[in-house]
Amino acid sequence: MDITVLLGAPGSGKGTQAKRLSERGGFIHFSTGDMLRAAMKAATPVGLKAKAYVEKGDLVPDDIMIEVIESALASVPKSTRALLDGFPRTVPQAQALDSRPATAAARAISFEISEPELIRRLTGRRICEKCGESFHIVFLPPKAEGVCDRCGGRLIQRADDGESVVKHRLDVFNKQNTLLLSYYSSTNKLKRLQAERSVESIQKDLHEMLSSDGLR
Ligand code: AMP
Repeated sequence: MDITVLLGAPGSGKGTQAKRLSERGGFIHFSTGDMLRAAMKAATPVGLKAKAYVEKGDLVPDDIMIEVIESALASVPKSTRALLDGFPRTVPQAQALDSRPATAAARAISFEISEPELIRRLTGRRICEKCGESFHIVFLPPKAEGVCDRCGGRLIQRADDGESVVKHRLDVFNKQNTLLLSYYSSTNKLKRLQAERSVESIQKDLHEMLSSDGLR
């Protein structure tokens, strides 16, 4: 398996980019946030354990998350090119991935973006309750208000995208991210991407970064 870790604050565009790359083919997108939201909706044991943390914008404990990602990665072929979006969020999570040759990260790409821009993006974000597609009331509005362009589902604001929870999520992110950046730079796996640009221009750079590593 070839694993690319996408690092970056909530709202930095990792999910949008990973979704696009996986739709073009060649990559599988693993979003631990999407996995938890699905588990919460289905009220599975993991969903029930995670709910209170997710709603407050806190991190779900490492042992639960490591199990979630390990079982997701175990369910795909060994030849998979995986894009990890939202995992790892702590150094112990990164170490858990790297502790097995089969799941060790080949590279980490950090999406870099300013805090005021993140707050604008997150509080205006709307997601489809059916397929998870992301929109923004100003930057990426759907064709018809409140309706998903892709599947016709209803667009809702995530419970954790309200302003006070967003600020808390960014604080949590900033604390852990500094440690994660040092972890990946100490092993020469870190690449940085300026993410305060259009979706298309970031996609082009990301594609080039992956191509230069022999992936396309
Ligand atoms: P996201 O959609 O990536 O912003 O994730 C939504 C929420 O899910 C986060 O605010 C956390 O509560 C939880 N979560 C997702 N991935 C992780 C992870 N790797 N470690 C801990 N909590 C996570």
